[in-house]
Amino acid sequence: MAAVVDKEKCVGCGACVGACPVEAIKIENEKAVVDADTCVSCGACEGECPTGAITIE
Ligand code: SF4
Ligand code: SF4
Repeated sequence: MAAVVDKEKCVGCGACVGACPVEAIKIENEKAVVDADTCVSCGACEGECPTGAITIE
């Protein structure tokens, strides 16, 4: 399980980056990228994303 970003929906706002307690997300080329090995699947980023681009899979 890890957060997965739908790049079609992500607008690069960075809200998820600040929400992540383990710093698993960074912005690359204006899209959020999740380090699946660091992600603890807490769901915090999913709740903060304004475009619904993140799912926990
Ligand atoms: S699910 Fe939690 S740990 Fe994983 S990227 Fe989102 S905020 Fe970070
Ligand atoms: S909060 Fe959503 S739209 Fe904003 S950077 Fe993260 S995944 Fe992209």
